[in-house]
Amino acid sequence: MSVLVVGSLALDTIETPFGAVDNALGGSATYIAAAASYFVVPIRLVGVVGGDFPKQGISFLKGRNIDLEGLQVVEDGKTFRWSGKYHYDLNVRDTIFTDVNVFEKFNPIIPEKYRKSKCVCLGNIDPGLQSKVLDQMHNPRVIICDTMNYWIERKNKELRETLKSIKVLILNDSEARLLSKEPNLITAGKVIRAMGPSVVIIKKGEHGALLLTEQMIFSAPAYPMENISDPTGAGDAFAGGFVGWLARTDDLSEENLKRAVIYGSTLASFCVEKFGVDGLADLTYLQIQDRFREFRELSRFEEGD
Ligand code: AMP
Repeated sequence: MSVLVVGSLALDTIETPFGAVDNALGGSATYIAAAASYFVVPIRLVGVVGGDFPKQGISFLKGRNIDLEGLQVVEDGKTFRWSGKYHYDLNVRDTIFTDVNVFEKFNPIIPEKYRKSKCVCLGNIDPGLQSKVLDQMHNPRVIICDTMNYWIERKNKELRETLKSIKVLILNDSEARLLSKEPNLITAGKVIRAMGPSVVIIKKGEHGALLLTEQMIFSAPAYPMENISDPTGAGDAFAGGFVGWLARTDDLSEENLKRAVIYGSTLASFCVEKFGVDGLADLTYLQIQDRFREFRELSRFEEGD
């Protein structure tokens, strides 16, 4: 399946207990597209950057075979900037600032050749923009959407509108509680599914992820990691691995959704090993498959006598 990714391209300033970077390449679309590019090529990208976006950012995306026809460059504008600081508990992060810059006036125009993409992945951006993208698409087979607390709090009505049209929503545990107003994650999943998406994936940081459909609850483990450098983008890398696998296999069965969740977790685990997008820069498909198999071993056990 052809894949369209829409989302933010950013310059991130990140501090973790293990190091810091200034103006590093980031953004939801960057991470999603990079992760998905290990499964299908080309990935089509729609987003916006300013004239200050570094050439290395473009080279990174082109190097991953990402089609940039849909990337708008506002020469006299500034690229979206985000800054986050992580605590010793890496599941806790404070947003230091979000400067939307060129995103404030962004009008996502989907190039003609992208409009028939069968798989649409709406990265974490203003839900009003996510809906504008969907309005331009010709009958996609699967729409996957990511969001975050920033939009749940500020654009709740618009987000609820977008949710009516999508199949899979990916969000983390605190966001699921915020959106559903339910403390229990299983109940939260049901409440969110009633808002539109038939599949809800709730990520639980280092505790794995839950896949919830009408028929099934699947609990995926997280990869046990001793060395995490930077958790930024883990959620987006998860979405990219998930989308990439579905697009590669063109199979939306429940068994294949489970595999897609494990591929999502696999890409997220590679992402956090290095700062920024470096963990997604030069993997091999063999490395990805090896780690996928390690996931299977993690929670396999024999019944005994
Ligand atoms: P994650 O760690 O998966 O939540 O993704 C972090 C990435 O999301 C960073 O590279 C940020 O640039 C980007 N980001 C943070 N806040 C927003 C926002 N409000 N809208 C769009 N992208 C964002």
